[in-house]
Amino acid sequence: MIPYGRQDISPEDIDAVTQVLQSDWLTQGQAGPRFERAMADYCGARSAAAMSNATAALHIACLALDLGPGDILWTVPNTFVASANCALYCGASVDFVDIDPRTYNMSVAALSEKLAQASTQGRLPKVVIPVHFAGQSCEMTEIRALADRYGFRIIEDASHAVGGDYLGRKIGAAQLSDIVVFSFHPVKIITTGEGGMTLTNDPRLGERLAYLRTHGIVRPSQAAPVDAARSNEDRYGPWMYEQIELGLNYRMTDIQAALGASQLGRLDAFVARRRELAARYDALLAKLPVTCPWQHPDTNSAWHLYVIRLQRNEIKLTRRQVFEALRAAGIGVNVHYIPVHTQPYYQRLGFSTGMFPEAESYYQDAITLPLFSKMTDAEQDTVVAALTKILS
Ligand SMILES: *Cc1c(COP(=O)(O)O)cnc(C)c1O
Repeated sequence: MIPYGRQDISPEDIDAVTQVLQSDWLTQGQAGPRFERAMADYCGARSAAAMSNATAALHIACLALDLGPGDILWTVPNTFVASANCALYCGASVDFVDIDPRTYNMSVAALSEKLAQASTQGRLPKVVIPVHFAGQSCEMTEIRALADRYGFRIIEDASHAVGGDYLGRKIGAAQLSDIVVFSFHPVKIITTGEGGMTLTNDPRLGERLAYLRTHGIVRPSQAAPVDAARSNEDRYGPWMYEQIELGLNYRMTDIQAALGASQLGRLDAFVARRRELAARYDALLAKLPVTCPWQHPDTNSAWHLYVIRLQRNEIKLTRRQVFEALRAAGIGVNVHYIPVHTQPYYQRLGFSTGMFPEAESYYQDAITLPLFSKMTDAEQDTVVAALTKILS
């Protein structure tokens, strides 16, 4: 089976992990801060905080923006459930904004319209989470302008987009948002096994993100400096730590961070290969009755996913039949995403099918083809040949 995604682990990655295993610090040593600094520098952000996974990072990001009971968070239905669940962890409520039929990202038109309506009803969101689907950035300039007008905060869910660009800058620079979240799950662009990260340019937010993922504890010298006179008091001895808020233990181990830092060294090569494979799919699929992913001119995708849409009036088979035939031919296709608002849990919260028609229509005919940095041209040819045979 050719999988839809797969990690790419080198002997250098294994060496980096082994070094940590032989050191004194399996967690809370120097590998974590080194990975954070390297990623922040790579993206051009002020600071980064590594977390146990992106779901944890989204939760911490919401807490750091004071999202709580009575507040509302908006995201898209075309995402993994974690982008919406983070609001519920904080006791806030969730609503969705439909997607753009070209990019499958949050529609700026739908967002603008929903904000105008919410504003008259006093139901504006406190936080909006645009998701950079498949690795292609959302239209952040437009979303930033709406944030300034309506006063909401922005968390970019960039789980798919590590290594991608927007208007010539790295995704993760956090120029147009409050916080950016990355995932390092093995199917994503680079991996730490499980892992995630927040990035920000706001120094106060950066500190808060860092201590909220470690119980809300700071060393007095760190985030809550005591004045020189008091620091000589006995209670400010070198053992001192203070819990200043209710945080969680969402830390990443040094074993994982060393793997992440090593993988980061090959991120550009991974993304270059993914871009090459995506362009190759575009060319090889051009004559088939499928819609290839459209790219907004402001973006340069990291290509986490390559999603095709079946042109329903040109194909006699159903999406399910095409999907099953591909699986039977050894092609590990997948579907991203079942619209979150159609999940049983979200239906119990009051959402119903029909509420977000673009996301639902997209979902009806989407198939994710295999795409990963180690994929060979021959493997890609096998995928295209199987699809061509099934559709003819
Ligand atoms: C993978 C993913 C997450 C969750 O990432 P984990 O690291 O597995 O917690 C969140 N949002 C999106 C869009 C994702 O694809």
